[in-house]
Amino acid sequence: MNDAEVRGRVLAIDDDHLVGAMLVAHAKAAGFDAKITDDPEEFYTLARDWKPTFVVVDLVMGAVDGLTVLKRLAEMKSDAAVIIASGMGSKVLDSARQYAAANGLAYGGVLHKPFRRTDVAAVLEAGAYSPESDEPALDVLQGWDAATFERELRAAAASDQLMVMFQPKVACTDGNVTGFEALVRWRHPTLGLIAPISFIPRAESMRLVSVVTDAVVAASLAWFTRSRPQSSERLSINISASELSGPGLGKRLLDVCSLANMSPERIILEVTETTAMANAADSLEVLTRLRLDGFQLSIDDFGTGYSSMTQLSNLPFSEVKIDRSFVRSLGESPAAEVMVRSMLQLSRGLGLESTAEGVETAAALAVLCDMGCDFAQGYHIGYPMAEPELDEWLTQHGT
Ligand code: C2E
Ligand code: MG
Ligand code: MG
Repeated sequence: MNDAEVRGRVLAIDDDHLVGAMLVAHAKAAGFDAKITDDPEEFYTLARDWKPTFVVVDLVMGAVDGLTVLKRLAEMKSDAAVIIASGMGSKVLDSARQYAAANGLAYGGVLHKPFRRTDVAAVLEAGAYSPESDEPALDVLQGWDAATFERELRAAAASDQLMVMFQPKVACTDGNVTGFEALVRWRHPTLGLIAPISFIPRAESMRLVSVVTDAVVAASLAWFTRSRPQSSERLSINISASELSGPGLGKRLLDVCSLANMSPERIILEVTETTAMANAADSLEVLTRLRLDGFQLSIDDFGTGYSSMTQLSNLPFSEVKIDRSFVRSLGESPAAEVMVRSMLQLSRGLGLESTAEGVETAAALAVLCDMGCDFAQGYHIGYPMAEPELDEWLTQHGT
């Protein structure tokens, strides 16, 4: 594989040679170049000179422990996204992740041992930035001026560089798949895979985000109509609140739905709470029209933004999506439980459906079911996936 074809570089440290060899093979199969070592000094040298996109750190090793490796990476100001591999329980992994974030490392996900080929592919596809940080961890585009950004983005949308991954959403009661969230990635021919956090905010500020939305809507509806035609499943699409103030969003969406022969009732538009609420009066008209057109509306990242109870009851949302920062601590933090319970009560009281995002553990899922949350989404259930991983996941789930 030459450099132009490689989607990124994966560097792993693991003292189990068999696990290491498997990881390298799986990463290569997913289109990444990969190296493994059990020698910490060789690892640090490669982390500095080979400039990996991801580093995979085993938490428990003989010669050196994983936290020491993370600390050293932070001192080196490594901008590789850290994937934590371990057979340890999720609580330990969670602490390690918090430790990585607190030290300014980009968090790239978790690999639970034993892992399969699809686990490796999924974590490499999904995790390329630190969700805890406002700063894009892989700020690969910072060298571009506005004109270059616009030209590149438009070219990406016109070719197939803006690709969509789908993360399954399941019913808490029986675990059945009820839908998918479309999540965009930019597969740049020379820069590799770029996470949405690295280009969506800039596209929003340059009023270019409709370029992304249109590409995502077209690609995801094409997949959805082709692969999930007769079902009651729904497709969630992220919409930037900046698009709510401009004209034409509803019309564009309706046109694509009618071309794809898809009922708008099967589409959920997710709008981030922060911005939707900041401009409640302006948003009201656009949101109401979208609702009248038949689209479902979801408040994304609920609990982190500006909503007041009045606004929540006034705006025509059909779903509340509880932010992962609350969900993550469920089963461990009594405070998080109180918050999530009251958010669920609030949404039930207002007749809204509830989805918990960022469900990373069986414990969190159990607590959510117990509290009567309707739907769940997160790494514990399924990563954002592209075909053919998604097909494989769906087959395993018997759908
Ligand atoms: P979001 O809509 O809240 O999407 C959920 C994010 O959480 C996704 O990150 C997803 O990969 C990640 N995630 C899913 N399960 C877990 C989990 O169990 N644990 C953790 N820690 N994270 C999980 P992603 O794909 O990087 O997207 C980040 C944000 O970028 C999205 O947040 C959304 O606001 C925005 N975005 C993504 N695709 C689009 C798009 O097509 N259009 C627009 N306007 N925004 C998009
Ligand atoms: Mg979303
Ligand atoms: Mg969200």
